[in-house]
Amino acid sequence: SSWANVPKVCVIGTGPAGFYTAMKLVKDHPSVCVDMYEKLAVPYGLVRYGVAPDHPEVKNCINQFTSVANKDRCSFLGNVTIGKDVTVPELRNNYDAVVVASGAWEDRKLNIAGEEEVISARRLVGWYNGLPQDSWLKPALHKTEHAVVIGQGNVALDVARILLSPIDRLKNLDIPEAVLSQLSKSKVRRVTLIGRRGPQHVAFTVKELREMTKLDGLTYDILRKDCENLPDIIKNADRSRRRLLELVHQCSENAQSLDRNLRLWALRFLRSPISVQSQEGTVTGLTLAINRLESNKAVTTGDEEELACDMVIRSVGYMGTKFDPSLPYREDTGTIDNVNSRVTGLPGVYATGWAGSGPVGVIASTMTQSFQCAKTILADLPALHVLPGKPGKDGILPLLQSRGVFTLNHGS
Ligand code: FAD
Repeated sequence: SSWANVPKVCVIGTGPAGFYTAMKLVKDHPSVCVDMYEKLAVPYGLVRYGVAPDHPEVKNCINQFTSVANKDRCSFLGNVTIGKDVTVPELRNNYDAVVVASGAWEDRKLNIAGEEEVISARRLVGWYNGLPQDSWLKPALHKTEHAVVIGQGNVALDVARILLSPIDRLKNLDIPEAVLSQLSKSKVRRVTLIGRRGPQHVAFTVKELREMTKLDGLTYDILRKDCENLPDIIKNADRSRRRLLELVHQCSENAQSLDRNLRLWALRFLRSPISVQSQEGTVTGLTLAINRLESNKAVTTGDEEELACDMVIRSVGYMGTKFDPSLPYREDTGTIDNVNSRVTGLPGVYATGWAGSGPVGVIASTMTQSFQCAKTILADLPALHVLPGKPGKDGILPLLQSRGVFTLNHGS
C-alpha cells in the first residue's frame, strides 16, 4: 500500500534537536513521516525544564515546535523511555532512520570529600522549572546567606540570578507555587561563582553577563588584581571573546565603587574545590586549592584557602546518559560517536544536538546542526528506504502496549 511505501523516521527526544530535525525533514521531503518519542509526559526538553523562567522570550521557539507536532506527518509519543520501554535495535527494525536527539541529562561531579552535601545545578534548575523528578529538592534557602557555585558558565549565572532575584521579580513568572514559597523565604545575600582558571576563561556569554550587571538592587564583586592582565589578552582575542572580556574587565574596574550592602554576586578565579565542610547536614564552608596557569591549564600551587558559605552548588557541565547499550558512547562525555551526525558503525542511525556534540551551544546552534542532520538523512534516505518499507509506529505501539507502557499519543 502507499502507507508502507512512505519513508519513516523516528526521533528519540523532543527538545530543540528533535523538533528542528523533524521540522526540516517534513519541509524538505514530500512524504516522509516522523514519529517523536519522549521519555517525559510533555515535549520541549530543556526549553521547558532548563531555560530560566525569567527568560520567557527564549522559550518562544515552543510555538514553532507545536506547529511541527500538529502536522499530519508528525506524531508525538510521550512517556516512552527508549532503552527501557523499547530499544534502539527495535526502532531500527521498524524505521528507515533513527535520530538520537536525547540531549544530556546527567551532570558532572566534583569528586571531592563532602560531595553528598553539594547540590547539582541541573537539579536546582529542574526544581525551579517544575521538573517532576526534582520537585523533592528542598534547598535550604531559608538558612543560606552565602551560596557558592562551582562553575562559570551560563547555567551558573542562571542559578545566581534566580537565587539573588527579589521575590517580586519572580512571582509573576512560570514557577511552581511551592518553589515560589521557598524562594520567598530565601536569605541569600551573596553568590560566589568559582572558576578553576582565569577571567579570560569564563564560559558564559556577554549577553547573560551584561544582564547580571544591570539587575535592580544587585551589585557585584570582581577583584581588580585578578583582571590586571586582561587588556593584554583582549588584544589577541577574537571579536566575540573580546566583547565578553572587555565587559569582565570593566566590571572589575566598576566593582570597587559599588555599594556592598546590596545583594551581591562575585567571580573568583584560579580556585578548585577540595572538600566541603558541614555540621549535622548543614554546609559551613569549602576548602579551595589555589591554582596557577601553565599553558592555559590550571595547576595547583599547593596552597589552600577556606571559604565560609552555607550552600555549595556544582555547575560544571551536563553529560549524556548511556540509555541504550547498542549505541557507541564516548566514555568521558557520554556523547554518541558520530561524524556529521552519522553514528559510527550504525547505518541509518543519526545523533544531533547535545546527544551528539556534548552539552555546549544554545538553541540557535542546535537548530543549525539539526537542519544539517536532516539534510544528511534525506541524502541517505533513498538507500535506506528499501521496499516494501518499514511499519513505523504500527510496529512499535503493539510492543509498548504488550509491555504495559501507557503512551501519551498525539498526532496522526
Ligand atoms: P534537550 O533539550 O535536553 O532535549 C532532549 C530530550 O530528549 C528531552 O526532552 C529528554 O526528556 C528526551 N530524552 C532523553 N533521553 C530519552 C530517552 N531515553 N527516551 C526518550 N526521550 C529521551 N539555550 C539558549 O539558547 N538560551 C538559554 O537561555 C538557555 N538556557 C539554558 C539553561 C540551562 C540550565 C541549560 C541546561 C541549557 C540552556 N540552554 C539555553 C541550552 C539549550 O537548552 C540547549 O542548547 C538545547 O536544549 C539542546 O537541545 P537538545 O534537543 O539536544 O536537548
